[in-house]
Amino acid sequence: MSHLVAPRGTVDVLPPESVRWQRLEARLRALALRFGYGEIRTPMFESTDLFVRGVGEATDIVEKEMYTFVDKGGRSVTLRPEWTAPVVRALLQEKALGQEPQRLFYAGPIFRYERPQKGRLRQAHQFGVECFGFAGPEADAEVIALAFEALRAHQVDDAVLRLNSIGDEVCRPRYREALLQYFRPRADLLSDDSRRRLETNPLRILDSKAEADRELVEGAPTMLDVLCDDCRAHFARLQQYLSELEIPYTIDPRIVRGLDYYTRTVFEITSPALGAQSTVIGGGRYDGLVRSLGGPDVPGVGFAMGLERFLMMLAARGEAGAPRSGVQVIALDEPARARLVPLIGALRRAGDFPVNADYAIRKVTAQFKIADRNDARLAIIAGSDELASGELTVRDLETRTQDRVPFRAPGATAQQLVAWYRDRVGTPVTHQSPPARVTCAPSMERQ
Ligand code: ATP
Ligand code: MG
Repeated sequence: MSHLVAPRGTVDVLPPESVRWQRLEARLRALALRFGYGEIRTPMFESTDLFVRGVGEATDIVEKEMYTFVDKGGRSVTLRPEWTAPVVRALLQEKALGQEPQRLFYAGPIFRYERPQKGRLRQAHQFGVECFGFAGPEADAEVIALAFEALRAHQVDDAVLRLNSIGDEVCRPRYREALLQYFRPRADLLSDDSRRRLETNPLRILDSKAEADRELVEGAPTMLDVLCDDCRAHFARLQQYLSELEIPYTIDPRIVRGLDYYTRTVFEITSPALGAQSTVIGGGRYDGLVRSLGGPDVPGVGFAMGLERFLMMLAARGEAGAPRSGVQVIALDEPARARLVPLIGALRRAGDFPVNADYAIRKVTAQFKIADRNDARLAIIAGSDELASGELTVRDLETRTQDRVPFRAPGATAQQLVAWYRDRVGTPVTHQSPPARVTCAPSMERQ
């Protein structure tokens, strides 16, 4: 029988790794909400046409990376390779564009048929934001500030924000001409992909990862030399805002982004911790997208962050572990277990922290090991001593101190334990800051 394994380029996420995902996602959601962005969720598949029109035919995504299939109704559908086109499609469908600005964020999987390697998957996950309705550089500064805050919230201080402007419909044609003049005589030296794109989309050559193209690209004219006055003013004002917001950046005239609908501002955030796939965030302004998908003339700006790469970056830097939280309920014999089962139920109803229990009767040292594995903060212990005295032993596994709490009816005891937990450990302000360190009154250690 053949082995059943996950498809190439996909990964399963199990505890405790899933805890890292939950914490990151929770922080990013909270951050987006602080900036006034609301969550949008769109279908995982769309009609293929949306991506062909919304991403652009001469892009890596549309040319070779889409998971496209014909469904049983004979329609060509594609698993979402990126979020911006679906977000625009949804807003147009809801007639939500053109009236007032829209600030939205998303988090979820994307699918791209790529060669799997470190930091490159076939099912990857992105968090991102889109801000519609502002043509000025204030919105560019806002989304960049949000991306920067995501880094700062995780104490990432070695990532680099690279900024460029790729102009608009006024000056880009001029740049296209300049690029054609530069690359045409050198076409023989270009990679196959780039030679094919030379006439359709020469800007994409700047984005090429092919070794053959890199050197030629170095000598190519840059967009910044030919920006029109409006684009130049927009770019200058954005830089001023970033300085005022104390966001460091470098200008990188080679950044063009892979997607066709970008205008003016483009940016990437790269991390030295990531190796070859060093871009963790990519974004920019896309003033032409909404119109090109049949909507009104509404400008937009946004970014997408690769969550796998973000987590890799945190891991490389040595992530602070989550603080211990919750309780491990430990029964030392069968009569105690019978008394603890209703207490466990009551605790799970009354508390807002994890309540773990191992129902096997084991040595207390083995039980403590399980508590450690669950990262529990407190152990609530009952054996024959506790049943006789009518008091539970409560051990703080972080401070290694112990206390006794009366063991009465499940509901009342649960209430008291929850109050005890809040008192010493603090209300679990999930994912924000670690709970205040507590010290319990030192008491008798269990032998
Ligand atoms: P790359 O240059 O790495 O191919 P891209 O330009 O295709 O990136 P975008 O479409 O801008 O990437 O997506 C934004 C972010 O999403 C990337 O910077 C990266 O962090 C992440 N990402 C994109 N594709 C993948 C993938 N196949 N696997 C993992 N992460 C990805
Ligand atoms: Mg790519």
